[in-house]
Amino acid sequence: MSFWLSKTLNEMTQDEWEQLCDGCGKCCLNKLIDDETDKLYYTNVACKLLSDKDCSCIHYSQRFDFVPQCTAVTPQNIANLDWLPDSCAYRRLYLGRPLPSWHPLLTGSKKQMHKKGMSVKGRTVNETRVRDLEDYIVIWPLQDMD
Ligand code: SF4
Ligand code: SF4
Repeated sequence: MSFWLSKTLNEMTQDEWEQLCDGCGKCCLNKLIDDETDKLYYTNVACKLLSDKDCSCIHYSQRFDFVPQCTAVTPQNIANLDWLPDSCAYRRLYLGRPLPSWHPLLTGSKKQMHKKGMSVKGRTVNETRVRDLEDYIVIWPLQDMD
């Protein structure tokens, strides 16, 4: 049952791959990169399709019709997606780390993830309501646990 322990990322089925996503919503936050230092900054400004109530994409299966620049995380591109948060399950497994203790695959629901502040639930501003991203820089999306 614990396919993430017995399979490499490349060996997983599409369904298993999708199950790895904890649904934290951090990847759906707008980010800024400093031109001079290349440093990455997270903001709490979410993509227009992200629901702040449950961190889900409201048009996930058709998301590229609405947001062409949305990135599909795959076994082929995970090595290049270093802007994903350290807590991201794909990033963790790619780097040889285990799933975190709060991951829905281990706990059976998203409750622990939300409780421990590892998701964006209730913490975002929709990008349609924001003018200057620099006013919304936050550090909490960088938080990681165990
Ligand atoms: S950061 Fe990673 S685990 Fe979290 S929602 Fe995005 S792809 Fe899924
Ligand atoms: S289109 Fe959906 S999955 Fe893509 S960034 Fe926006 S909310 Fe996230």
